[in-house]
Amino acid sequence: PSSRLNVLVTGGAGFIGANFVHFWLEKNPQAKLIVLDALTYAGNRSSLAKWESRSNFQFVQGNICDQPLVESLLLKHDIDVLVHFAAESHVDRSIPSPDAFIEANIMGTFSLLKAAKAIWLDKPAAAGLSAKAHRFHHVSTDEVYGTLAAGDSAFTEQSTYAPNSPYAASKAASDHLVRAYQQTYGLQVSSSNCSNCYGPFQFPEKLIPLIITNILHNRPIPLFGDGQQIRDWLYVEDHVRAIELILQGDITGQRHNIGGENEWKNLDLVKYICCKMNQLFQAKPELSQQFPTALAARNNESEKLITHVSDRAGHDRRYAVNINRATEDFGYRPSETFDTGIQRTLEWYLANQDWWQPLLPETAGGREIS
Ligand code: NAD
Repeated sequence: PSSRLNVLVTGGAGFIGANFVHFWLEKNPQAKLIVLDALTYAGNRSSLAKWESRSNFQFVQGNICDQPLVESLLLKHDIDVLVHFAAESHVDRSIPSPDAFIEANIMGTFSLLKAAKAIWLDKPAAAGLSAKAHRFHHVSTDEVYGTLAAGDSAFTEQSTYAPNSPYAASKAASDHLVRAYQQTYGLQVSSSNCSNCYGPFQFPEKLIPLIITNILHNRPIPLFGDGQQIRDWLYVEDHVRAIELILQGDITGQRHNIGGENEWKNLDLVKYICCKMNQLFQAKPELSQQFPTALAARNNESEKLITHVSDRAGHDRRYAVNINRATEDFGYRPSETFDTGIQRTLEWYLANQDWWQPLLPETAGGREIS
């Protein structure tokens, strides 16, 4: 049935959005899929190159705050499902420059909701028609719940919202607006709050690709504070598979936590990836030719690149989500282990230098550490 749905994906040139587009079109090669993306620094049209020539795929460069544009896309393409990924997503950037986060994450989501209401609910009502089933799926984060202490139970969907960064606060606000549009107007919405994702096509300012690309350039790997912060890591394909499960079901008006049941202290995670990179370089001598700058990895000592930097302001100590509701409602469980997910990720970055190399000058995350 997914192949019969016309889908509008916002933020499809970003990390998770691009993975969703690949996943969806590979499973439903005939399905109509439209991407709306402003191509900010984090958007990369080349991530979608594989689909550009297909007649059922269309890329539209535009802003989610442009309500008339969104309305025209919903109408023109007879969109059934809107999957909303577009956002300013990097916490570190939200600390010095929160304005862009308020604009994209709050005003952008609000604008999309208004467009969906106008086309899906108001127009049929004005014409005396009953609205057909549409869906607005909102992609959000576990960071809306704030921070946990080491021994606390993981966040459930009933946990209180307590966002600590401007990024998390902007996502929390957007979550509330999405909920309100169902409660007030009857828009059919669903939301997923997921933990830290990793995998192919992730912009190299984020922790895991930052570690990988810094090792490949023999640059310091910045580690905030004592490195004891705990994060749950989710392979991106498990996340997009969960979104597909949500869309296939008829559960609306609910939030689902999507996690990897895979908590790591940042320091352990960095060491783990260093170790994996060392192993790859020892096992595959051709990597040393391909990446001549990766001196530490060649010498089996990538850990030496780890450099402690002062902690992020308002840095949450621990995130973890309870995924029982997703398991009960639609059978979601993460299928990738960290070992297999990291292996796939490392192999992708090693094989796709053309994708990430041009993005490096844009990264904010501690390239030069004195
Ligand atoms: P990303 O930064 O890689 O991509 C965001 C995309 O949105 C980019 O292509 C960008 O060009 C586009 N965009 C930004 N502002 C826009 C606007 N105003 N109009 C149109 N397009 C715009 O982000 P990501 O990591 O893929 O995250 C996707 C979604 O998932 C976000 O909503 C984020 O909050 C959420 N999320 C991400 C993670 C994670 O680990 N990456 C975890 C939990 C939730």
